[in-house]
Amino acid sequence: SQGARLSVRVFPYGKGKHLLLAQDVTALEQAEAMRREFVANVSHEIRTPLTVLIGFVETLQTLELPAEQRQRYLHLMGQQAQRMHHLVQDLLTLSRLEGSPLPGYDQGMAVADILEQCEVEARALSALLGQGGQSAHQLEFPPAHAPGMDQQLLGAPVELVSAFSNLITNALRYTPAGGRVQVLWQPQPDGSACLQVRDSGPGIAPDHLARLTERFYRIDRSRSRETGGTGLGLAIVKHALQRHGAQLHIDSQLGQGSTFTVHFPARRVQGKLES
Ligand code: ADP
Repeated sequence: SQGARLSVRVFPYGKGKHLLLAQDVTALEQAEAMRREFVANVSHEIRTPLTVLIGFVETLQTLELPAEQRQRYLHLMGQQAQRMHHLVQDLLTLSRLEGSPLPGYDQGMAVADILEQCEVEARALSALLGQGGQSAHQLEFPPAHAPGMDQQLLGAPVELVSAFSNLITNALRYTPAGGRVQVLWQPQPDGSACLQVRDSGPGIAPDHLARLTERFYRIDRSRSRETGGTGLGLAIVKHALQRHGAQLHIDSQLGQGSTFTVHFPARRVQGKLES
């Protein structure tokens, strides 16, 4: 095919004969290029906070600074160390999720319980982003009696909570204060179901949409860092959902907010809806 890369090798084969071995190495080369890019990204992400840390250590070692300034430097050093800690945690999570699922991937957890855990985290984050402990967003979760809340999702509950939380956390981090974040559970007539996270944030331009779940892909690097992002969140979400046979769909327009929809097949959803 066009653009394919072939590796051709010639082996002597008996008297006056040769064996020609042609191998399509396109996929191999692509995988190798992706691996190199990944290592370069990780190195870059670690090098930046490390450089800052080394700089502060040298300053603290060579200068007699007033106590207040020392404290400020130590605080900044702590922040950089935290950043590296998050990155390493996310890298480990991603590498675990890229492996094959372990047996016992069909533990059930009630949708209401999953969303309750997400809601506690979301309210805490929104309060942190707000002023004086006030929630920064209008945050809406389905009420306990909403349709399908007593359904069970089959899978690894920890991974499901973390995937949903990641989507909700992103909605809160990228939606400016005063905005609206809405979480919905939508059981479908065919027994499948969707989790939806809608926000009234900045929206995402079409050319970014397809690449958003790539490792380290960020639209605005500095904004993502400011809000504590590693650029691995959506890659983690994608892999966690793939292990559950679920699909992530992102719908967004610049200036119109974004909607992240996770569709679970019927075999992952247990419990009938009352009609
Ligand atoms: P990060 O750690 O940078 O948030 P993610 O993988 O979670 O990494 O997200 C990748 C990028 O997608 C983010 O840097 C941001 O630019 C964009 N993004 C994610 N969620 C939203 C959202 N709800 N609204 C607008 N942009 C978003």
